[in-house]
Amino acid sequence: MDLLLKGGHVIDPDHLDGQMDILIQKDRIQSIKPSVQDSGRFPDVSSAPDRLKIIDLTGKVVTPGLIDMHVHFREPGQEHKETIRTGSTAAVYGGFTGVCTMPNTDPANDSSSITTYILEKAQEAGMTKVYPCGAISHALNGIRTTRFDELKKAGAVALSDDGMPVTSSRLMRKALEIAKNVDLPVISHAEDLALVGKGAMNEGRVAEDLKIPGIPNAAESIMVQRDIALADLTGARVHIAHVSTRESVMAIRAAKKIGIPVTAETAPHYFTLTHEAVKTCGTNAKMNPPLRSAQDRTAIIEGLVDGTIDAIATDHAPHHPDEKNVAFEKAPNGIIGLETSLSLGLALVAQGHLTLVDLIRKMSVNPSKILNIPCGLNENASADITVIDLDVQNRVHAESFQSKSRNTPFNNWTLKGGPFLTIVDGRIVHQTS
Ligand SMILES: [Zn+2]
Repeated sequence: MDLLLKGGHVIDPDHLDGQMDILIQKDRIQSIKPSVQDSGRFPDVSSAPDRLKIIDLTGKVVTPGLIDMHVHFREPGQEHKETIRTGSTAAVYGGFTGVCTMPNTDPANDSSSITTYILEKAQEAGMTKVYPCGAISHALNGIRTTRFDELKKAGAVALSDDGMPVTSSRLMRKALEIAKNVDLPVISHAEDLALVGKGAMNEGRVAEDLKIPGIPNAAESIMVQRDIALADLTGARVHIAHVSTRESVMAIRAAKKIGIPVTAETAPHYFTLTHEAVKTCGTNAKMNPPLRSAQDRTAIIEGLVDGTIDAIATDHAPHHPDEKNVAFEKAPNGIIGLETSLSLGLALVAQGHLTLVDLIRKMSVNPSKILNIPCGLNENASADITVIDLDVQNRVHAESFQSKSRNTPFNNWTLKGGPFLTIVDGRIVHQTS
């Protein structure tokens, strides 16, 4: 079935902004034209009328398919938390036509056979496009590098030991040198484990009140600064994952100013919440890095506004309720985010921090540039499209999520704006009823 998306406000941050009609034939965008206001035929539509579905998108925003460049789908190995199928479905319900899956599965994605397995499962699921991130070191052990060329050949778009830092600066240097040769970005999970120690939440007043050991900001920013130094040394592309502190933002800003090839992402919880949330949400506000102070949250928003932080990614990290329903210090790190991310991003627009164009850039165009994957509303490009409803009000209901897990601090929040329609390769994979 061909699709005619009629009358939406089409925004592609690089080149489109206006009321337009988009014709999709098979898996491609056939044409993008200024909207024809009468109800007559779309010019040049060669589709037979019974083969064409027309969708009126008046009042809706049509954007390049959103890309979440940092998710954990838990397959292989921990399918009780999430599978590639349930994660992919959660992604399209959240408006994402593409996701980058982190390699800390069990076994880790440290070989071409695991990368191929992930891609086959994603193909079977037939929902979002999955772009696997390969491991830097075997079993994420930080000792020996994997075969980056083979991972890339199998379909990996980036390299990371996410979940674990690359503690050895020497190994990180070597990894960056090889990654530069095969032209893949390296995603840095910046964490000084010795400084984290037994810490389980942000170091500060709230941790003292709750008598929970703290993690200082420096545990992140020390490693951010190291990896910036190594990007400078090697000329390789470093992408800093889940930035949570003011000091990290300052370091990345300074590095960009002098042309070091560093990019960065943050996650919705870091610009929405502070460590105060631990008091009310308990283990559903436990993640790594932890929620920080109000001052850090402000710095994260400033980093998004001035372009220091290029991308918004969820760090979608599903865990079973039995695993989260334990003492705070024993609970695993991470929260799910795919089905609330766009709405939380739109809140930044409503608050006047970002323009809608900026938000779309950070949730589609920029991740695609960092990972070197296709994105954009162009004639003859793959029809990967997200349609946003800016006016809808939704109460978050974790029990209704497509994700297998429920670990969100945003349950029962009322959020304005969200995904309306998700199209992958010309197929409607999610439509709000
Ligand atoms: Zn990480």
